[in-house]
Amino acid sequence: MQKISIFGATGSIGQSTIDLIRRDLSSYDVVALTGGRNIARLAADAIELGADLAVTAYEEALPELRQALAGSGVEASAGQAALIEAAARPADWIMSAIVGVAGLAPGLKALEQGTTLALANKESLVCAGRLLLDTAKQYGARLLPVDSEHSAVFQGLVGEDISAVERIVITASGGAFRDWPLENLKTATLAQASAHPNWDMGQRITIDSASMFNKALEVIETREYFGVEPEQIEVLVHPESLVHALVGFRDGALMAHLGAPDMRHAIGYALHWPERRDLPVARLDLAQIGQLNFSTPDLIRYPALSQASGVMQRGGLMGAVFNAAKERALDHFIAGDIGFTDMAEITARVLERVETQSGLIDSAMTLDNVTQIDHIARKSADVAAAQTIG
Ligand code: NAD
Ligand code: MG
Repeated sequence: MQKISIFGATGSIGQSTIDLIRRDLSSYDVVALTGGRNIARLAADAIELGADLAVTAYEEALPELRQALAGSGVEASAGQAALIEAAARPADWIMSAIVGVAGLAPGLKALEQGTTLALANKESLVCAGRLLLDTAKQYGARLLPVDSEHSAVFQGLVGEDISAVERIVITASGGAFRDWPLENLKTATLAQASAHPNWDMGQRITIDSASMFNKALEVIETREYFGVEPEQIEVLVHPESLVHALVGFRDGALMAHLGAPDMRHAIGYALHWPERRDLPVARLDLAQIGQLNFSTPDLIRYPALSQASGVMQRGGLMGAVFNAAKERALDHFIAGDIGFTDMAEITARVLERVETQSGLIDSAMTLDNVTQIDHIARKSADVAAAQTIG
């Protein structure tokens, strides 16, 4: 029996992971499930899967969780320290599917027990890639990519030498506003930005797909995970979302990974790795699909992509600044404080200000320093948002 834990169990990735586990429950011994405010979901899943422990990130939600779990034998806990404690509980495979930099500390703690960490939480790689990889190495742990593009690249590299790779191409659907006239983006609403043409995902990553902040984070994720140079990474707009990534080798071969837009493939690949097992995902009928389209992304429509290039060039803790600014700008857009295109204006301003004002960018990549610069960048984003409103 494989001992597993799922961080962010109540979210989109967490629920897809549970869907796979549920189909083969006798093979798994579930240690911990964590969630946020959706206590009913967290408790119901913890009871059904027979988890030892359920954790909510919010301390004020503990009484409700305790009540929902009463008599079930599932232990309840809450708060940041409880999340860290859950990450230290021995498990063979841990899903990291909290959204945002909040996933970083539990992810690091999980690696310290030498486990296999299935990483959906791309933000932690963007903020602290070197720290995660070094921690994994130090403790003999393994990091497996769960983002669809990175899982695709990872699969394309099986049996290959990374030194034979010339380029990595990740695809982007182009999001909800791919075909909108540019002048309409300013007034795009939250509901419009929250509707993805191909993928069914959490709200935050769906909006980040419309702005391509998600792709910007994924370019940095590619650099961090595979250790390639920024110039070797390309983004292609591919409206069908069937080719997830391509690996180009020095002999000119380009290996593409195709599949239905269903995260259960990437999750299942990481769950069963290094084996391949049956997965309940749709099979593609290419004759039926007929044609696939590709184009170069428009950097005026998607300024986040150019910002990611600048972040990689600057290096140091700039990834953490970029992610924090993006998270806050997104909070303000969701709250209705700012418009859709204001998000990229805010991140641009924060990158510039924190770079010139903070001596921290070149400090050591420790959890403390990443947390500190994350706070500075969030404050700077709040100031920039207030100026936008004013
Ligand atoms: P989601 O919003 O649906 O779920 C997020 C989960 O994290 C929930 O369980 C929530 O309770 C928990 N959470 C939120 N804030 C928290 C905090 N401060 N502390 C602790 N827990 C908190 O998000 P999602 O779409 O499932 O995405 C999860 C991660 O996977 C993100 O990093 C995202 O970028 C990545 N990802 C998602 C998809 C997808 O298809 N949804 C695809 C690729 C990568
Ligand atoms: Mg992705």
